[in-house]
Amino acid sequence: MSDRSRSGDKGGAHTPRAPSGGGARLLLSRLRQLMARQGQDQQKLDQVVELVSKTMVADVCSIYLSNEDKSLTLMATQGLRKEAVGRTRLAENEGLVGLVSATTRPLRLTDAFSHPRFSYRPETGEDPFHSFLGVPILRGGRVLGVLVVQNRTERAYDDEEVEALQTIAMVLAELVAGAADALSAGLRQTRPVEIRGRALNEGLAIGRAHLYDPVVPPARLFAADPDLEEHRLNEALEALRNSIDGMLTRAGPVLFGESRDVLETYRLFAHDPSWEARLVEAVRSGLSAEAAVDRVRREHRARLENARDSLVRERLHDLEDLENRLLRQLAGEDAALRDSPPGAVLVASRLGPAELLEYRDAGLAGVLLEEAGAGSHAAIVARALGVPAIGGLTGLVTRVEEGDSIVIDADGSLVHIRPGPEIVANYQARIALSDEKLAALSRLKDEPARTLDGVDVDLFINAGLSFDLDHLDEVGAKGVGLFRTEFQFMASETMPSLEEQSSFYKSVIDRAGDRPVTFRTIDLGGDKVAPFMGRREREENPALGWRALRMALDHPYFFRRQLRALIRGARRKTLRLMFPMVTTVEEFEAARRLLDSEMEWAIKFGRDLPDKLFVGAMVETPSLAFSIDSLKGKADFLSVGTNDLMQFFFAADRDNARVTNRYDILSRPAMRLLQRIRQRADDAELPITVCGESGGRPLEALALLGLGYRRLSMQATRIGPMKLLIRSVDMSKLAPRVHAAMEGGSPSLRDEMLSIARDFELKI
Ligand code: PEP
Ligand code: MG
Repeated sequence: MSDRSRSGDKGGAHTPRAPSGGGARLLLSRLRQLMARQGQDQQKLDQVVELVSKTMVADVCSIYLSNEDKSLTLMATQGLRKEAVGRTRLAENEGLVGLVSATTRPLRLTDAFSHPRFSYRPETGEDPFHSFLGVPILRGGRVLGVLVVQNRTERAYDDEEVEALQTIAMVLAELVAGAADALSAGLRQTRPVEIRGRALNEGLAIGRAHLYDPVVPPARLFAADPDLEEHRLNEALEALRNSIDGMLTRAGPVLFGESRDVLETYRLFAHDPSWEARLVEAVRSGLSAEAAVDRVRREHRARLENARDSLVRERLHDLEDLENRLLRQLAGEDAALRDSPPGAVLVASRLGPAELLEYRDAGLAGVLLEEAGAGSHAAIVARALGVPAIGGLTGLVTRVEEGDSIVIDADGSLVHIRPGPEIVANYQARIALSDEKLAALSRLKDEPARTLDGVDVDLFINAGLSFDLDHLDEVGAKGVGLFRTEFQFMASETMPSLEEQSSFYKSVIDRAGDRPVTFRTIDLGGDKVAPFMGRREREENPALGWRALRMALDHPYFFRRQLRALIRGARRKTLRLMFPMVTTVEEFEAARRLLDSEMEWAIKFGRDLPDKLFVGAMVETPSLAFSIDSLKGKADFLSVGTNDLMQFFFAADRDNARVTNRYDILSRPAMRLLQRIRQRADDAELPITVCGESGGRPLEALALLGLGYRRLSMQATRIGPMKLLIRSVDMSKLAPRVHAAMEGGSPSLRDEMLSIARDFELKI
């Protein structure tokens, strides 16, 4: 127990004392008895406040519970007027209690009245109470209410008292969650909720929620034998540390997938004495090992909910992940196995592509993510899996419970959680309709993408996983316009060897048969860390940072290995490859030189070579867009990556939901850039493809066709609708209208594109 003399006790009235050591254990054992007792939930709440106020020598102990609208109702009190129970209701954010709920952090004050957020409620009779200590009642990261103690004296509650109250709040959380129905309709999540996000892959789906990392409340809260519990905790901690150390050692310098950075941070956290001390302390107070981990995890989860700073968020994510692993360790589970019931909707705060890939055989109905940031590659995997996906769903994880019914409307960027029967029926009908549409589209798969006036357009798919290749036949595409080779790296624990890379490339080429495949050399770096290339400093602007070709050129050994694997994988076949994020012609030339030396090496050692070699540059930076003439005779083809090109053109991060929809590719400046690229490519006699997402969107594709682009590469599911669109337009009418719109005065071509679409009776 800390020094009581600094408590500032002025009034001689009760001074609260936190139960510590044996006291804490006693309190927990009393709570345990209380919880085990038969009786009404309200009675139990009343008994809890009585017990807490007695044990902590507090003049007041009150429990406020959250309502659905985030207001808080006083549900039990010892020390305030009993008549206020059920009547005193604080609006969201109102008063000190509201502040604790909103920040999900403890709040301790010696003089509550002088705090600017203090809100006076005469009916409670709280006038004489100066000091205030409030802690949130948290469960699964959700605030269920606030537990408060108050004293007449102006005194500072110390850390141990805060801790003690937090432990009580945790026990209370179980009682409250179990009693939710009886106490307040808003506590358990039964009401339908809609959240709007950002579509990562279009489509509709109905399914049951499956939480990626469910926050499972511990089965056992209290420990009968604290020594035994401490022993269990220590064993689990040791096993966890060993497994992390093992991961790092096993993977050695070529660690991939689970990034070395992340693991190094895990290792630091896992060995952090203050983290361990918190866990041990919680166990010594009488909690089970699971409950102790859960308690510490709740605090991190709650802080995560409120943290704005991305670095802090990363840290808290890591800690939470570590605590989840520790819980799985305690439960004796294999943390690596991922499974879900078929037809489930995977719900996660965020997922890397590799994590999502773990579900590839699980028959998911859809994917919902709270954070869209890292989402772009998870989105691409979601597309490869062919499931509707939405990202940027704020507050998702805390509002969904395992098994909840979910409707995903990725077409409308909307998710319905626990929808009513009318909504479900409506979507069932829509899904049946879209199935019919899909069947109609699949009948088009053997027809050419030819306009009414006989202009052929080549449609390719974007791919990155071997099972993407199956889509080639399903949709009737000309080939693969963009094969994202980094996916193989991201999906494996260690860096793929030369052999693994080359056999993978060979299998892709073989599966594509006669159809061309354009491999893009790895586009890693930036926020896609390549740990095997050593530790890196954190970059302020990863998208503008050390990534893609820049990184490859700085690591010629690693880059040449990929080039060698591509040459080997394409022996006696055609090899088409292109470099990502080329910024200057010199970079392209440097990359090409490395490729040439690999070809020479293969010749020198008598290796089979590709029959044909085509080398392209991706036009993803404005700088290269203005250098196309200089690529004449050096490159064999170009591919416009509009996703990156537009992010750099508009200086707007493609993964930042706040800015992604702010600028329009159909605006005149962007269209002028694309027109110029097309013209310069013609002048330099370089075939050109568009492989960014815009090529698969109807209005954008119309504009691109009007500007003369004849090769588009897109996600496989877009090929059918795009064929239908192309087969419905007359190029001799479309092109003049697009050109006229380019000459007109309007800042965007979007309206004109819409009107063209209407005139061609396109269903957009
Ligand atoms: C692009 O930037 O448009 C592109 C196709 O590449 P990625 O989306 O993989 O960056
Ligand atoms: Mg790109």
